[in-house]
Amino acid sequence: MAHAEEKGQGKYNVVVIGAGTAGLVTAAGTSGLGGRAALIEGHKMGGDCLNYGCVPSKALISSANLIQRMRRSRAFGLQATEPQFRFEDVFASMRRRRAIIEPHDSVERFEGLGVDVFLGRARFVSPHEVDVEGTRLRARNFVIATGTTALVPPIPGVQEISYYTNETIFDEMPSAPDSLLILGGGPIG
Ligand SMILES: Cc1cc2nc3c(=O)[nH]c(=O)nc-3n(C[C@H](O)[C@H](O)[C@H](O)COP(=O)(O)OP(=O)(O)OC[C@H]3O[C@@H](n4cnc5c(N)ncnc54)[C@H](O)[C@@H]3O)c2cc1C
Repeated sequence: MAHAEEKGQGKYNVVVIGAGTAGLVTAAGTSGLGGRAALIEGHKMGGDCLNYGCVPSKALISSANLIQRMRRSRAFGLQATEPQFRFEDVFASMRRRRAIIEPHDSVERFEGLGVDVFLGRARFVSPHEVDVEGTRLRARNFVIATGTTALVPPIPGVQEISYYTNETIFDEMPSAPDSLLILGGGPIG
């Protein structure tokens, strides 16, 4: 819905800080219900899920699953086969699949839904105002949807070694490691 005020001017019904899953849904929902919404993102649109979470992990898992199903093809009445693959190609395919989904979380898509998107770190300057790179936004309501980040626990020596977190492994691991120690046995580990 088009609103009379210029982008950044006047008072928003809702200013959402963080364009991860939670912030995107909140901003689109507010706009869809006729509210005036601003969305602020300080790093990458889509947050963890698109960039370092659900999407890249599920793309890799689906490739690994297919590799394993091919190995087990005798169970499906086929001839046993050993799949041929390069680790680097599987990772490249994951990034291509992520790039296909990226437009769904883009600035253009959300502006098209009537949300005013601002790129930069938000900080409160009063109970009713946030600053984004010098632009002041005023709102009746604020939603803080700033998510989380990987915790590197204070294990003695950890800062002297090189390690990955979910924010780096999908883009920075250059080739198949000979061995990998995974610290943390939750779903992500
Ligand atoms: C490897 C992995 C796999 C996962 N798989 C799944 C899955 O299969 N299914 C599932 O449901 N969930 C999955 N998750 C969890 C899912 O990614 C998170 O629950 C979800 O991303 C949380 O969304 P959010 O919007 O709360 O926060 P985030 O996605 O973290 O977004 C917060 C955003 O706020 C921004 N921000 C922070 N501070 C500021 C500031 N001051 N100003 C402006 N912007 C700011 C950040 O840059 C970020 O983009 C997975 C997570 C990981 C790590």
